[in-house]
Amino acid sequence: MGLNIFYRYSEDEKKVIDYQKKMIKKRQLEVKIREKKKTIDDIENSILEKHKQIQELGEKLKQYQEMIREYKERAKMLRDSLERLKKERDNIKDPEKFKMLTREISKLEKNLLEIQENIIYFEGEYDEIKERYQSMYEDFEKIKKEKEIIIKFLKNELRNLEEEYKKLDEELERLKQEIKEKNPHYIEVFDNYKDLYGDLVFSDVSDGVCEGCGMKYSAVEFMEILKKLQFGKSRCPYCGRFIYVRPEIAENQDFSD
Ligand SMILES: [Zn+2]
Repeated sequence: MGLNIFYRYSEDEKKVIDYQKKMIKKRQLEVKIREKKKTIDDIENSILEKHKQIQELGEKLKQYQEMIREYKERAKMLRDSLERLKKERDNIKDPEKFKMLTREISKLEKNLLEIQENIIYFEGEYDEIKERYQSMYEDFEKIKKEKEIIIKFLKNELRNLEEEYKKLDEELERLKQEIKEKNPHYIEVFDNYKDLYGDLVFSDVSDGVCEGCGMKYSAVEFMEILKKLQFGKSRCPYCGRFIYVRPEIAENQDFSD
């Protein structure tokens, strides 16, 4: 059995594949970091939102308190006026004036009654809101504590992801410079096509299937591909990705007749 190696996957090329793998990992980390930040934001916003609702209820309580205070003041003023008018009426001899004053007194009494009804109504409302406010506040304190623990945990996870990302980024930069020194073309290829191919520019076809587009090559087609394979030049006939085979595959292919 003659072993005819048409294609060898060099250390330089291995670095390119490693670079691509790390780049894909970097993109995945970016997504994870973004999602983690959004989760933290959402939880923080939900706490703020609940706090705002409680504050608004607190404001309403203050308004009701103020309204009740004003009604009570007006009621007191009316009672004082009534007392004064009644005393005045006791000393009146003129029946016309007496009638006028009586009408005035009954008008004020009607007013006072309305105000007292309002006081009862708003005091009832006030008690109801206060109860709601207190139970909301207690719930909030409890939920807030729980959520703060979750946020702390998530922020810790985020920090780890960001550290991993930073390390990966540094590794990528180092790898890029290493590749560029000997094979700037590979980096150019990757940079030019990474957007088009979603970072999978170099596609592994070792199993006769294109890793990038999933197309399965026929046996004849695959053999032709392997015979002509040149890293950084040969492309998948279906998706156009730059194809390669893993070294162990390349070295074990038997192309002899
Ligand atoms: Zn393909």
